[in-house]
Amino acid sequence: MSMANGKLTVIKYSLAKTKRPISPGAEKWLGKPIPCLDHGFVYLVDYLGNDLSVEQAARVSYGGGTRKVSETRGLIRYLKRNDHTTPFEMVELKFHAKMPIFVARQWVRHRTASINEYSARYSILDKEFYLPEPEILSEQSKNNKQGRGEVVSSAQAEEIRRLLLDEASGAYGLYEQLLNEDGDGNPKDLAKPKLARELARMGLTLNYYTQWYWKINLHNFMHFIKLRVHPHAQYEIRVFAEAMSKIAKQAFPIAWEAFEDYELNAEKFTSPELAILVKMLGNKIKFTPDEVIELAVASGMDNKREQYEMVKKLKLLGIIS
Ligand SMILES: Cc1cc2nc3c(=O)[nH]c(=O)nc-3n(C[C@H](O)[C@H](O)[C@H](O)COP(=O)(O)OP(=O)(O)OC[C@H]3O[C@@H](n4cnc5c(N)ncnc54)[C@H](O)[C@@H]3O)c2cc1C
Repeated sequence: MSMANGKLTVIKYSLAKTKRPISPGAEKWLGKPIPCLDHGFVYLVDYLGNDLSVEQAARVSYGGGTRKVSETRGLIRYLKRNDHTTPFEMVELKFHAKMPIFVARQWVRHRTASINEYSARYSILDKEFYLPEPEILSEQSKNNKQGRGEVVSSAQAEEIRRLLLDEASGAYGLYEQLLNEDGDGNPKDLAKPKLARELARMGLTLNYYTQWYWKINLHNFMHFIKLRVHPHAQYEIRVFAEAMSKIAKQAFPIAWEAFEDYELNAEKFTSPELAILVKMLGNKIKFTPDEVIELAVASGMDNKREQYEMVKKLKLLGIIS
């Protein structure tokens, strides 16, 4: 929509055929919100590219050298395994998300995205705050200073929810009092000032909802997901990360499979850990390279380069003779 000569004009964008690469999995999710927590959501607003865009970018950098790994899946998996990251930056995702302010504070730490947030200087925030469900209200963890421990009893949970509700409702009462505005923007109490919205908001609690547009490339998105679906991440941000993962998995199935196999569900061994593994395994188990490749093929690892990379790692551990 746009304003011209004071008149509101609806600009009609053509939804006709496009020459752009389309992802059927992403198309399915466009404008379809996934509810998150009690009042939040996340949906895909737009996207750029698909799995083939990753391959296309890689071919520019490798030129003729890609012929050996010409199959799309094989190439994308090779890129992911070997940290060839920039082809994944050619794909972009844009989400609209609504989350509690304390979740937004964690989310915004990921500096590699573009954000445009709802302005509480310009607009009045709705009376919407997050109240955790009783079954996720837990005590402080005894062994993880950043985590949760035992779930509190149902009576305790009700008491905690009541305290949170009273606090957030009271905070909104103060907000309305300071704003001193009726529905038409006139002062409710003519004897009192209408405090600026940017000041009136400061008494609100961190569980109030905010919302934003969030645009990020696939490489940085995967990094975000790896950190924020991890069990150490706070439950409330995990809910959003898991919802967005669901969309990305269908939007970019080949790249996502590679991400799951080589990053999300993979483990990295440190140098001291490797030294211990060599001591533990090196002289006890011995396989020939052919035996290892046979096992790899049987478990579905059919890519020759991937098999070769695994043999190299196992040689390092002394498992292969
Ligand atoms: C479980 C968990 C607990 C956390 N606890 C805390 C905490 O207690 N306190 C706290 O303050 N934060 C905490 N964080 C936030 C964390 O420290 C990171 O700020 C956040 O996860 C963003 O990670 P990132 O910098 O890798 O991501 P991004 O900002 O998206 O950056 C992606 C990558 O780009 C590169 N990069 C981006 N900007 C720079 C830069 N300026 N300089 C160098 N490299 C850059 C880095 O390689 C980085 O990994 C926590 C995060 C998690 C997941």
